Amino acid sequence: MATTKQTADVVVLGSGPAGYVCAIRLAQLGKKVTVIDRDEVGGVCLNRGCIPSKALIYAGTQYEKAKHGEEMGITVSGAKLDMKKLMTWKTSVVKKLTGGVAGLLKANGCTFISGNAKFTGPTSMEVKTATDTIALTYSQCVVAAGSRPTALPGYEVDQKRILDSTGALDQTEIPKTLLCIGGGYIGLELGTFYAKVGTQVTVVEAGPGLLGGVDPDLTKVVAKNLQKRGVTVMTGTKVISKKDNASGIEVTFEKDGTKTTQIFEKILITIGRTSNSDQLDLAKTGVKMDSKGFILVDAQRRTNVSNIYAIGDIAGQPLLAHKGSKEGLVAAEAIAGKKVAYDVLAMPAVIFTDPEIAVVGLTEAEARAKGIEPKVGQFPFAANGRALSVAEPDGFVKMIGDAKTGRLLGVHIVGAEASNLISEAALAIEMGAQVEDLSLTVHPHPTLPETLMEAAEATLGHAIHIFQKKSPSQPSARI
Ligand SMILES: Cc1cc2nc3c(=O)[nH]c(=O)nc-3n(C[C@H](O)[C@H](O)[C@H](O)COP(=O)(O)OP(=O)(O)OC[C@H]3O[C@@H](n4cnc5c(N)ncnc54)[C@H](O)[C@@H]3O)c2cc1C
Repeated sequence: MATTKQTADVVVLGSGPAGYVCAIRLAQLGKKVTVIDRDEVGGVCLNRGCIPSKALIYAGTQYEKAKHGEEMGITVSGAKLDMKKLMTWKTSVVKKLTGGVAGLLKANGCTFISGNAKFTGPTSMEVKTATDTIALTYSQCVVAAGSRPTALPGYEVDQKRILDSTGALDQTEIPKTLLCIGGGYIGLELGTFYAKVGTQVTVVEAGPGLLGGVDPDLTKVVAKNLQKRGVTVMTGTKVISKKDNASGIEVTFEKDGTKTTQIFEKILITIGRTSNSDQLDLAKTGVKMDSKGFILVDAQRRTNVSNIYAIGDIAGQPLLAHKGSKEGLVAAEAIAGKKVAYDVLAMPAVIFTDPEIAVVGLTEAEARAKGIEPKVGQFPFAANGRALSVAEPDGFVKMIGDAKTGRLLGVHIVGAEASNLISEAALAIEMGAQVEDLSLTVHPHPTLPETLMEAAEATLGHAIHIFQKKSPSQPSARI
């Protein structure tokens, strides 16, 4: 293979939501940018993560709604789901978005190289393309090479019987039974989709509860809904062995010393994500990483090697697309010489279960751990007109304020459209709002965001649509 030489001001390694956002911002700021990716533009998020999963989850919900509208007088007979067609539609959504991002990179004057990159030094790398090898030198580099599903030893992913999240997004038949190993957000989102399309789903989680790190009050609502859908959840349970037999994969579980076995058609492994830093020959640059291979960065997303930055999943938790994009903007502006820092007060996170969970800021426990006395208010979706009129009464908004200062510290939602409700709370926290600010803001009726206003009122002790006893210690509207 021939080796050609190329140079760039800035190389962005990886075109996921961290890398492509960074590249576009760099180009806007006048830099000559080269973007490298060994796969399709858009990274995990667009190709095998956020977008395809949400497309399938939406379709699963529509299918389920079509079958269960009797209470509203809607009877749909013969509702069917054609998985092959669904996958074609999902792929068309992905292609529209990846095509759009490729077009934006081009329109902004970024050079795109399709190939696998490895570092050869702090200012150089080698990129193997389909036809040749490129020796690329650069002044600055932004590493945005992301993460991959964590492998489970002994479970070789073939995307047919043993799946990871990528395979679970590409099945053309509905499995009769599915075991999800791992009760984190990816397992629950995909497990819920399969349950909605008719698969008998079992979720096994070694830890004490589902969705570790999320307020257990929120998780309870999701767990109850999973149960209603016939999903079996086994927490505190380990998968200790498996063997193939004629009718499927026989799995042995262990809980509190007791062993049980069950047969599944397919297994989905979602036990976490692993940094791709081990595939880049980073040792040749001297860039430092933590014990899990996530690259260590400062407030500008600069590594210990001054011309190399790292953003997105490869730069550590939380492994979320919007966190990576934010870091991409910060790194681009830092490279362009702007005074900028990653100073996010509260990073929102969404889990697209049924109902959805969306959180931003501190939980009650986190506030206490920081020595802050929290004041907590809660408002149920069942008391919101819009939630009832769209048949989504499950869940609540929990609001955490600082009892001393009245400042809004956190908002934790489980309920319909939580994903679309959380940004108001994120803005409020970023702006240093008081809980009272949310209660004083007029929210249009009838809408789900009224639950935020009423949760703020509940925190202050005077929500209108739930009964709150007058507290003698809290006579005024202020916290
Ligand atoms: C099923 C699923 C659902 C998800 N849902 C959500 C969600 O709803 N919301 C959310 O915020 N996050 C979600 N995520 C997480 C989200 O996808 C990631 O946080 C996000 O994609 C990380 O972006 P990134 O740019 O850091 O890296 P990635 O998206 O991983 O992109 C890295 C890119 O680098 C390329 N690359 C790596 N190594 C090399 C190399 N040596 N040479 C060339 N190219 C290389 C890869 O091909 C890839 O395109 C989900 C993930 C999964 C798996």
